[in-house]
Amino acid sequence: MTVVTRFPPSPTGYLHIGSARTALYNWLYARGRDGRMVFRLEDTDRERSTQEAVDAILESMSWLGLDYDEGPYYQTQRFDRYREAVQQLLDGGRAYHCYCSRERLDALREQQMAAKEKPRYDGHCRDNARADNGNPPVVRFRTPPDGTIVIDDHVRGAVTFQNSELDDLIIARSDGTPTYHLTVVVDDIDMGVTHVIRGDDHLNNTPRQVHILEALGADRPVYAHIPMINGPDGKKLSKRHGAVSVLEYRDQGILPQALLTYLARLGWSHGDQEIFTLEELVRNFDISGVNKASASFDPDKLAWVNQQFIQAMELDALVAAAAPYFAALGLPTEDAAQLAAVVDAQRTRAKTLVEMADKSRPFFGPLAEMDEDAAHKHLRFGVAAPLRTLREALAVLDDWQPEALHAAVETAAAAHEMKLGKVAQPLRVAVTGGTASPSIDITLQLVGKTQCLERLDAALAYIAERVDPA
Ligand code: GLU
Repeated sequence: MTVVTRFPPSPTGYLHIGSARTALYNWLYARGRDGRMVFRLEDTDRERSTQEAVDAILESMSWLGLDYDEGPYYQTQRFDRYREAVQQLLDGGRAYHCYCSRERLDALREQQMAAKEKPRYDGHCRDNARADNGNPPVVRFRTPPDGTIVIDDHVRGAVTFQNSELDDLIIARSDGTPTYHLTVVVDDIDMGVTHVIRGDDHLNNTPRQVHILEALGADRPVYAHIPMINGPDGKKLSKRHGAVSVLEYRDQGILPQALLTYLARLGWSHGDQEIFTLEELVRNFDISGVNKASASFDPDKLAWVNQQFIQAMELDALVAAAAPYFAALGLPTEDAAQLAAVVDAQRTRAKTLVEMADKSRPFFGPLAEMDEDAAHKHLRFGVAAPLRTLREALAVLDDWQPEALHAAVETAAAAHEMKLGKVAQPLRVAVTGGTASPSIDITLQLVGKTQCLERLDAALAYIAERVDPA
C-alpha cells in the first residue's frame, strides 16, 4: 500500500507555524515511506479565501522546501464532484432534504439553550414526508441516532463518541454549495488519502466525517491528531505571543532548516536529539514519537537551533542564505570573497541572519555609526600614542592578513608598555564603532586597510578634541 498524506490548508491568511508543522509531519511521513503528499486548497469559504493567502502559503512551503506530489487542488474547482457525492448520499437514503426555516431553527436553539440542552438539530425533516414547505432545502446527513463510534487515533488511542451527540449536519447549503465536512471527506477518498495527520482541533470533526466517509462506501484512513502548539503561557499560540507566520520567521533571519527542525521537535521526539539533518528527520519521523500533550513554543530555543545551523552549515550555503539579508540592509554583496569572509567570521556571533548582517555593517564602506558610550569610555588620551604608532605601522603594511595584523597590534602595544587587550578594545571601537566584533586581527582584516587608516585618523581626532577642545 502506498502511503498518501495530505496538506489541506484553508487559504484565509498567512501560513501559521502550527499549520507548517502539520505540513511537515505529513511530508516527513510520506517521504520516509516512499509515499506521496497531496496538497489542496480548501477554498470553499469564498468570502475569506484569497489569492494573496494562496500565494503566501505557496511561498512559505517553497521556502521551507516542503514539496508535494499532487496538487494544488482547489476545492472550488470540484463542486460538480461534491454535488455528485451529495446525490449519492440522497439516493442511498443517507442524507435528506431539510426545509426548516431560519426562524424555526433559531427558536429550537433558544428552547434547547433555555432547557440547558446542547443545541442540535431535532431531526424534524428526517422522516417527514410532508416536510417540503417550499423553502429551498439544505441537505443534511443522516447520522445514526444512537450507538457509539470509536476513532482509533494513532496519537490519542481509541476515542469514543456517542452518535447521539452528533448532529444531522448540513452537507449542502440551500444554494447547492457543499460544506466543509463533505468536501474534506470526498477529497480524501478521491485523492486516495491513507493517513490523515492533522491538528487535534479537528478531532471532534472526525466521527462526523467518518460517518460520511463510510456512507460513501470508503474505508477509513489512519487518523493521527497532533496536539496544538501553545504559547509560553499555555494558551493556544497566537499573534499575541509574537510572530506566528512562517514568512515572519524567514524575515527575522531564521534558516528554513532550523525552523523545520525546531517544528519537528515541537511535539515529536527521537531520544533527546535536538539537531537533525532533513534526511535524519525523514528516516526517524514516526507517529509513535508524537507526544500526547500539547507543545509549548519557545522562541529562545528556536534561536538556539538556528544558531546551531548557522555554525555548522557549509560556508557556501550559509553565504547564499545570508546574502539577501545583507542586501536588505543595503550592504554590498558583489564581492563574494569579502562576503564569505565576513559571514565566516560572524557565524559564531549571531543567532539570526538579520543579526549577522546588522553586526557586519562596519565591514562594508565608511563607518556609519559610532557608539557614543563606547567612544567615550575607550577612546581616551592614554591610547592615543599606541594607536598613532599602530596607524603608522599599518600604513606601510602590505601583508593585510591576520598574522601580520596581530603582530602589528602587539608591537604597537609593547612599544608603549601596554597589554594587547588595553589597545585592542579601543582599536576595536575605533575601527568598528562598537565594542563587539570578531577577534581584532580578523576585524582589521575585514575592515580593510583604507577604512582602518581612515577610522584610526577619526579616532585620533576624536581623542585630540577631548583633550584639547578648540
Ligand atoms: N482546511 C482545514 C484547516 O485548515 C484542514 C482540514 C483537515 O486537515 O482535515 O484547518
